[in-house]
Amino acid sequence: MTCEKRKRDLSLYLDKELSQERSKDVEKHLSACNACLKEFESLKRNSEYMKKLFGTIDIPDLPLDFERKFYEQVNQI
Ligand SMILES: [Zn+2]
Repeated sequence: MTCEKRKRDLSLYLDKELSQERSKDVEKHLSACNACLKEFESLKRNSEYMKKLFGTIDIPDLPLDFERKFYEQVNQI
């Protein structure tokens, strides 16, 4: 299998969406292929960064009358 095809597997592997058999296959390839290992590391960094980014942001629940207040303000302009 070529590296190009592996790349699609890498993100699936990262999300643990590959079957056990294919995960093993990817692991084996990663230990043998530097290019894909680098690709995988950067994918991993990205996903950890995204998790950190979205994990720390608290999206407050909008107050129930938010919409009414919003339109009140709009109407005042
Ligand atoms: Zn490779």
